[in-house]
This record gives sequence, structure tokens and C-alpha cells, in this order.
Amino acid sequence: MANPEIMDKVVSLCKRRGFIFQSSEIYGGLNSCWDYGPLGVELKRNVKEAWWRSVVYERDNVYGQDASILMHPEVWRASGHVEGFSDPLVDCKKCKRRFREDHLADKSKCPECGGELTESRQFNLMFKTFMGPIEDTASVVYMRPETAQGIFVNFLNVVNTMRAKLPFGIAQIGKAFRNEITPGNFTFRTREFEQMEIEFFVKPGTDDEWLEFWKNERFNWYLRYGMTKERLRLRQHDKDELAHYAKDCYDVEYEFPFGWSELEGIANRTDFDLTQHQTFSKKNLTYFEEESKSRFIPYVIEPSAGADRSTLAFLVDSYCEEEERVVLRLHPKLAPIKAAIFPLMRKDGHPEKAQEIERMLRPHFNVEYDETASIGKRYRRQDEIGTPYCVTVDNETMENDTVTVRERDSMEQVRIPMSGLLPMLLERLNAEKKPA
Ligand code: ATP
Repeated sequence: MANPEIMDKVVSLCKRRGFIFQSSEIYGGLNSCWDYGPLGVELKRNVKEAWWRSVVYERDNVYGQDASILMHPEVWRASGHVEGFSDPLVDCKKCKRRFREDHLADKSKCPECGGELTESRQFNLMFKTFMGPIEDTASVVYMRPETAQGIFVNFLNVVNTMRAKLPFGIAQIGKAFRNEITPGNFTFRTREFEQMEIEFFVKPGTDDEWLEFWKNERFNWYLRYGMTKERLRLRQHDKDELAHYAKDCYDVEYEFPFGWSELEGIANRTDFDLTQHQTFSKKNLTYFEEESKSRFIPYVIEPSAGADRSTLAFLVDSYCEEEERVVLRLHPKLAPIKAAIFPLMRKDGHPEKAQEIERMLRPHFNVEYDETASIGKRYRRQDEIGTPYCVTVDNETMENDTVTVRERDSMEQVRIPMSGLLPMLLERLNAEKKPA
């Protein structure tokens, strides 16, 4: 489904309707950096909330945490990032463009102008900065390139404070930074992004089963929030594709307008990370198992997802052009605004009544009041940003306290008593499926 046109339309909708803006736009923008606007921030928060709900609240064996972005530099030596977190970089001698060699189908010439390419060299993706007032080698710290290491270094703290027993996991959402050689495709590949990661610690020997469990669990999460099944797939890594420490790995991939691309990786990282941290920190990171009275280093299954990438996938997936309207068929749980309230006319008490409804609904979920333009235009505006319900106050409301509720996807309208509005919307918004 390579369809760049759709991508351009989504990007334009994002800008026009306040989902995503270019960073520092009034200064000409900063390459590959994006800002979430008033609607985008709601959508992304809802995506993160849906993830946290499913992996932390709905499970009795996953704990949350939030580690700092700056960490002891030794962490990145232990993890292998200082030594090996690099991509092969090549330059075109003619047009001077830069590429990631592993992304090129033909490694001998420039995909843009056909020019000769330089030899590839390894380029470390970690951003460096300095801690304290003196910029010398002793004060170098790194902006974390993944949230995972913040979890490994807290393994003991969680075991000790939560009396955690295997199998258990630690989940975290947070920013990560990578000085990508070729960022692009809007928010798909950026240099600053947010990850949603779980490190799930298991007894060695049970790791294959848990990989199977998490790969299905995570795949189903995207379906649960309405992503089109045919545009999702799980792809197992070939042996030569696996990171040296990984025993097995699956990617959840989505068919974006620019092709199938990774949303999330689910890897069996064995005992690599905890063993490395035990060696470098000289702290005992083994786990004591009561039943067998034995000590060992747990294996770890890592489902590692991108908050920005999944937000983009939910946006693209929900984008729909119909004869008379553009509609974002977002799952109600993800929709930035849950209900819009309209007075039919700007007179006869309609605005006051509509504002009364707004006040009634606002404590429960995000709503918008709109009294401008024709009712048809107001519906279209809400369709375009994915608002699942529109509530209209009209003359009949003034007579018998009933309102009409219009559902986004079917465009069906029902008239109900005002007293039944909140319970009905709460029930529908909390339902775990998209409206029919
Ligand atoms: P890629 O092969 O696309 O560079 P990766 O395999 O290096 O990705 P991981 O290290 O497995 O990615 O990171 C886990 C997740 O973090 C990815 O599946 C993706 O959702 C997200 N992610 C990684 N790099 C970026 C980036 N530059 N911009 C946005 N999201 C990213």
C-alpha cells in the first residue's frame, strides 16, 4: 500500500487541526523534531494510557517506574552502547547526501543521483552532553537512547521493595534520544522520541513460553484499540538479523503508506543485560528462588514499543475519506475529544442549555463546545478530529429536555432525555470496542 499521498494528507490534517506541528516553526523548524499540539497531546496521552492500563493495571505482576534520562556513564559501557550502538554511514561523493548503508538496496551507488558512495563508517547514535560546568571528558554523560537500561539498573530495587517474585515485569514510558542518520517519514523516525518498554524477568527455561505470550499480548493490543488487522503483522527476525545477545525476536509491523515498518520489537534478551550490569557494577544481581533454594540471573523478555510510532499508526489507520467528509475513525478511548456540544441556534436559550450540558459532561471527559457555523460544518469538523459523539440542543430540547446524540462512524442520530446523556456516553466511551 505504498501511498505517499495519504501520508501527505495526514501530515496536513495534523498541522491544520492542531495535532502535530514542526518544532520551532517560527524559526524555520528543526529537522526531524515535532511538537504535539492541543489535540495531538491528547491522542498521544491516550495511547500511553491505554498501554499502561493493559500492561500495568490489568496485570498483577508488572510494576511501573520512571527513571531519569541522564544516567551514570558506566551504564552505557555495560549495556554495550558506547562500544556498539552505531549505524553504518555512507556519503554520496557527488550530491553529498548521507545514508544508512543497511537501508540501501544497492550499496554501490547513491539512490538519489547514482553517484559514487564513500566507504561506510560506524556512527554512534548516542547524544553526548556534559554534566556540571566543565566540559571535559570526565563530565560526559549521555542522553539515554532507550528506557530499558533505567529498568535493568533498578531490578534489585524493585525486587527488594516490592517483594517481587518471578515472573514479573517493570514497565516504563519515557523519552529516548538517538542521533539518527536518516530521520524521516514525519514522526516515524525522529531524534527525540518516546518509548513504552517492559522488561519481563523470567526463570531461564521458561523464556520461550513468555516470548510467545508477550508477542501475542502485544499484537492483540493494537487490535484492541481498533487497528486494521490486515495492516498488522508479526515478523520473526532471521538469525543473522538478531542482536548478538538476543535469542529470538519478533517485530510488530504496520503497513504505513510508505511500506511495512516496525512499531514494536519483542525480544528474548536472555540474561545478557543483568549479567553485564553485575560485572560492571560489581553488585550481585542474582535472584533467589525460595522453592528451589537456588540463585540465578533471570532471563528477560522485552516488548519495546514507540509511543510516537504507534500514535502515528493509529492516526494513519483511522484516516478515512468519504464522499462528503474526512473522518478519523479513532477508537473512542484514543479520541482526543470525546463529545462535542452544539446549540442548533445562537438564540432562544440554546447556547445556555448547551453550556449547561458542557458543564455536566466536562468533569467526566474531554468535551468541546461549538456554536459557530452551520450544524453540518460543525459535524464535519468533529469527524475530522475523530470525536465519537456530537450532542445537539434544539427547539425540542427547550420543550422537553431531550437532546440528539450523533455517532461519528454511522452518523446515526438518536434523541434521548438529557438525564440519560451522561450514563449513555460513559457506557459507550468505556466500551472496549469501536462503535458499529
Ligand atoms: P529501527 O530499526 O526502526 O531503527 P530499532 O529496531 O532500532 O528501530 P528499537 O531499538 O527496537 O528500534 O526500539 C524500540 C522501539 O522504539 C521501536 O520499535 C520504535 O517504535 C521506537 N523507536 C526506535 N527508534 C525510533 C526513532 N528514531 N523514532 C521514533 N521511534 C523510535
